[in-house]
Amino acid sequence: MTRAFIVFFGPPGSGKGTQAKRVVEEVGLAQISTGELFRKHLDQQTPLGIKAQEYMSRGALVPDEITIDMVRERLKQPDCANGAIFDGFPRTGDQAVALDNLLKELDAELCMVIDFELPLDVARARLLGRQEGRADDKPEVIERRLSDHAKVEASVMPHYRARPGLVRTVDGNRPVEDIYQDVLALVRSCLE
Ligand code: ADP
Repeated sequence: MTRAFIVFFGPPGSGKGTQAKRVVEEVGLAQISTGELFRKHLDQQTPLGIKAQEYMSRGALVPDEITIDMVRERLKQPDCANGAIFDGFPRTGDQAVALDNLLKELDAELCMVIDFELPLDVARARLLGRQEGRADDKPEVIERRLSDHAKVEASVMPHYRARPGLVRTVDGNRPVEDIYQDVLALVRSCLE
């Protein structure tokens, strides 16, 4: 089987996490969600989790060094042998460069970036309606996460758009099942 490393990019609420979860079960890749990893560390009250909480509770980005080290460790786990879908990472230019380097160490490179497009007002309505009991689902923190997304996009996407054919766009403003069919086909094209 071919190895594949893919980034799912999009605003909070765009459904990238939901889609990543389903796709990895179907195709046997690992899912690397930095938000979920931070929440797991926090549940277990690890030093990393306690540190990350300072930032997450405000809707701010956790510093790059902490985030990148955590991804480096995650990539060493055996379920990443066939590749991984990154969801919520990278969120800064430095994280994007670090990801290139981490993959180079594995003698691999990114196959694709899937950009989930969603108008911010739709993302806002979804996040306000979601309320899964996450500490960062308060309205003012949601606003911060949404308004920071433009900055995240400006730091990360030029890095990827510079590589012709790497970025593929999906319309995130459709039923979950329709998006899934498109995303699955794109991910499968990396595994052929
Ligand atoms: P969402 O995409 O719904 O905002 P995530 O679960 O991806 O939520 O992330 C939750 C929080 O975790 C972010 O607001 C941020 O504080 C932190 N976080 C997640 N990924 C990163 C990252 N790559 N770099 C820095 N901070 C991150």
